[in-house]
Amino acid sequence: MNYQAIVVGAGLSGAVMAERMASQLGWRVLLLEQRDHLAGNCFDEQDAAGVLIHRYGPHLFHTDKPAVADYLSRFTDWHQYEHRVLSRIEGQLVPLPFNLTSIERCFPADKAQALITALVSRYGEGARVPILTLRQEADPLLGELAEFIYQKAFVNYTSKQWGMPPEAISPEVTARVPVVVSRDDRYFTDPFQAVPQAGYSAMVAAMLAHPNIELQLSVAMAERVVLDWERGTILLDGVPFTGPLIYTGMLDALCAGSEALPYRSLRFEHSHLAQPQFQPVTTVNYPNEEAYTRITEFKHLTGQRHAGTSIVYEYPCAYTPEQGLEPYYPLFTDTAQQRYAACRAQLACFTQLIPLGRLAEYRYFDMDDAVDNALQCFAELLRAQQS
Ligand code: UDP
Repeated sequence: MNYQAIVVGAGLSGAVMAERMASQLGWRVLLLEQRDHLAGNCFDEQDAAGVLIHRYGPHLFHTDKPAVADYLSRFTDWHQYEHRVLSRIEGQLVPLPFNLTSIERCFPADKAQALITALVSRYGEGARVPILTLRQEADPLLGELAEFIYQKAFVNYTSKQWGMPPEAISPEVTARVPVVVSRDDRYFTDPFQAVPQAGYSAMVAAMLAHPNIELQLSVAMAERVVLDWERGTILLDGVPFTGPLIYTGMLDALCAGSEALPYRSLRFEHSHLAQPQFQPVTTVNYPNEEAYTRITEFKHLTGQRHAGTSIVYEYPCAYTPEQGLEPYYPLFTDTAQQRYAACRAQLACFTQLIPLGRLAEYRYFDMDDAVDNALQCFAELLRAQQS
């Protein structure tokens, strides 16, 4: 087959680009995926007991971008689901994001009322305040509240998750889970919240079920595609390839001789239990003593009926390829970002190479951001073709 584009990685970003190039441009696309399955980290499957699980941890789709929801809706029906999380603080389960109900659970009634009054008058009902912002409050009552939430819900969780305290990473990371000045106990506020009815793998399979897309699983890029550093060109099976190469893997894997980029990883411990329910909501966070950060029970989010239930524990760790781990999170330190920029600059000589997605762009994309970003990437490619 003569291909007009190569895509490396069959996760969401790669799938969107492959689908768009095949459907809208009519291009023949070679899609290489080194794992033995598609859908990247949102891959889901039935476990041995027949419960639909997310192999790489819980994936909750939510978006405020109608174009993204509309695009994905071409390939899947949806199961409506709003994510709710409880955090285990001082032996009890309290809503997370930390909200007014959480304050009432954690403090005696009089104190809770005083804290709520202070919080509402400072920020207004419905506000969402990053914990690091709240910690800068001069008001002693708000300072006390900030310190409690920071110590009990954030500092140890973040140290486990990232291997460093909240101050050492970009404030945007902890701002993803703000303190909420209301009783809204949803984890996300986006108007569209749902999971694919038949699962993420089925959705991505539908995206890639196009005769112009040739998907090859269990094929590492290096087996077919080589970067010719002397000429700044790309070789497919040893022959010069002139079309775009959409690359969604780790960028540092392409940069010979440069320092490896740091990533955080997770070790997942899946299990099936012979009981109908394990915990009251999909995810319970364990911010303190435990080595794991959270436990997720899948039936809550898929709506599946089953006599038993399947859960997963998440243990954060540094990424090292030797242990068979996957790189999940780019690191938000200045050093890591500088290393990424250097790697990107080194690869600029390959004008056909388009780094795309969470790994290749070293960005903390949610799924909807990844899809939106890939759709924008395709729009640019289209403009370039038309000019
Ligand atoms: N976080 C925390 N305590 C929690 C939940 C989150 O300190 O109970 C912090 C932590 O630094 C985490 C970040 O907020 O990495 C973002 O959390 P989110 O749930 O969005 O992370 P993800 O689901 O992407 O792993």
